[in-house]
Amino acid sequence: MLKNIVLMGPPGAGKGTLATRLREELKLTHISTGDMFREAIKNETPLGKEAKAYLDSGNLVPDELTIALVKERLSRSDCENGFLLDGFPRTLVQAEALDKLAKEINRPIETVINLDCDQNELIRRISGRRVCKNCGAPYHVDTMKPKVEGVCDVCGGPLYQRADDNEEALKVRLQHYVNSTKPLLDYYRDKGLLKNFDSLVGIARIFDEVINFLSSK
Ligand code: AMP
Repeated sequence: MLKNIVLMGPPGAGKGTLATRLREELKLTHISTGDMFREAIKNETPLGKEAKAYLDSGNLVPDELTIALVKERLSRSDCENGFLLDGFPRTLVQAEALDKLAKEINRPIETVINLDCDQNELIRRISGRRVCKNCGAPYHVDTMKPKVEGVCDVCGGPLYQRADDNEEALKVRLQHYVNSTKPLLDYYRDKGLLKNFDSLVGIARIFDEVINFLSSK
């Protein structure tokens, strides 16, 4: 079973949804840099104050800050039995830093799961997305409704619309994806780590396919 996993894909491809299910099923530690930044912003920490303008506008937080955050998180003992990186790395500098870091802590990246998705579908998903304020679990107003409106099925927390899930910020986020993050697919393909999945088949099927893939190794 592969355990040290990077999840990749454009915003709205379903990384968060897949990660939420995989972490339950496989008991892996889910590390979402976006969730960590949002938590820091909510708590008004120095990191949160620095990151807020980047998140609100859809821009990337500088590499140095992001790498330091992941370095600290990955060194904690709950990553020893495997981790799911969701939203990191997003630039080549981050990917190279991750290689170095993974070597230092002796937990090499074992696979990179990429979710492919077409742009119109991304826009549809993001404009209807709602997220739990407490645990980050994702929902959609049409296609992934919670059992009780406005309430998270997992933890009972309130659902909200992310500040950067608007048309303007989404354009910026997609541009960063194309310019900085998509090239990492070649980086991981060259290392023999990349495994592609079609995000359009729906979460239930992707989940089964990913579990089959991870357990076949
Ligand atoms: P996400 O929740 O993954 O969509 O991330 C939301 C926002 O957090 C992004 O638009 C960036 O502003 C910031 N962010 C998350 N991960 C990274 C990263 N690896 N590098 C730079 N910025 C990030």
